[in-house]
Amino acid sequence: MTTYNFAAGPAVLPHEVLEKVQKELLNFNNSNMSILEISHRSALYQDVYKDAKKRVLALMKLSADEYDVLFLGGGATLQFTMLPLNIANKHHKAAYINTGHWSKRAIAEAKKIPGLTVDTVASSENKDGTFTTIPEFPDLPEDTYDYLHITTNNTIMGSAYYDLPETSTPLVADMSSNFLGQEYPFDKFDLIYAGAQKNLAPAGLTLVILNKILLGQVEGLPDMLDYTAQSKKESALNTPPVFQVYVADLVLKWLEEKGGVAQIAKENKHKADLLYDYLDNSKLFKNNVDPACRSLMNVPFVTGNKDLDAKFVKEATEAGLLNLKGHRLVGGMRASIYNAMTYEGVKALCAFLQKFEAENK
Ligand SMILES: *Cc1c(COP(=O)(O)O)cnc(C)c1O
Repeated sequence: MTTYNFAAGPAVLPHEVLEKVQKELLNFNNSNMSILEISHRSALYQDVYKDAKKRVLALMKLSADEYDVLFLGGGATLQFTMLPLNIANKHHKAAYINTGHWSKRAIAEAKKIPGLTVDTVASSENKDGTFTTIPEFPDLPEDTYDYLHITTNNTIMGSAYYDLPETSTPLVADMSSNFLGQEYPFDKFDLIYAGAQKNLAPAGLTLVILNKILLGQVEGLPDMLDYTAQSKKESALNTPPVFQVYVADLVLKWLEEKGGVAQIAKENKHKADLLYDYLDNSKLFKNNVDPACRSLMNVPFVTGNKDLDAKFVKEATEAGLLNLKGHRLVGGMRASIYNAMTYEGVKALCAFLQKFEAENK
């Protein structure tokens, strides 16, 4: 049976990449060692790391003179803390736009930093705690905030930014769930971070892409929490996640060969349109997100009947459509259709939705 993995993260990886990993797992690059065994100080790993870094910048059309790429541990969640510690050092004030669960987590963690004022300058939270849109951008006073933080794709709510806020405040993004899956003018950001397990690699790696002007601004941070110290040591201040960086490099290469971010974003739109069109014409299933800001990556949907939702998830699983259960915060179903999800996978999902709808009128 053909199966498709619609998990939100850890998530589907390109099949070709997994096959390559399998093929060279016992003997990496003619070293007679597995990638799982090699030293992070070896030339073997240094080549992988340098290659991955170069590919990230090339795919984002960023210059290596201006931007650095850090390969860190601790997930996107650690960045909720590391970010303010490193860059909220002039005004000691940070602005956040609240568009869902992960924005809220970022705000809550920033609020724990001593001496930092955290303002939620816009929010799309509805009275019942749900989020179905992206709010109007506020006019921020100049030279007041150290940064404005947005979550470009809301993994649980299923919404995403298409236009970026116009602001003189340095723009920072949690891009975990649409990293290199949706096109943005990446040079509008001073800093972007992304946990790898949504759209890039296995869990255990987080990328931080930052403008080098942000380096060297604070002193006295513990090294592991200090962007400057991490940058100086080429993200190998401690033992880096060698295997994750290796897989990330293979996925980045796969992305380049596919035609880069513009091309994959076009394919992602094509996949997402297929599913949203079905849902909008369905009498049984419904997506509640404002059509102007629907995510290309995560598509939540419901029948409005919890028992029927559960029946759907069970029967979909039996049909090889895996991990469609919605996040516990919102219930219902969610199809995550990241870069590595094929058009065939989304077509199979739509066919199953149709079949289920016909059987459950
Ligand atoms: C999954 C996710 C996180 C949390 O990521 P970890 O790597 O588990 O810390 C943060 N932000 C967004 C947008 C996410 O999708």
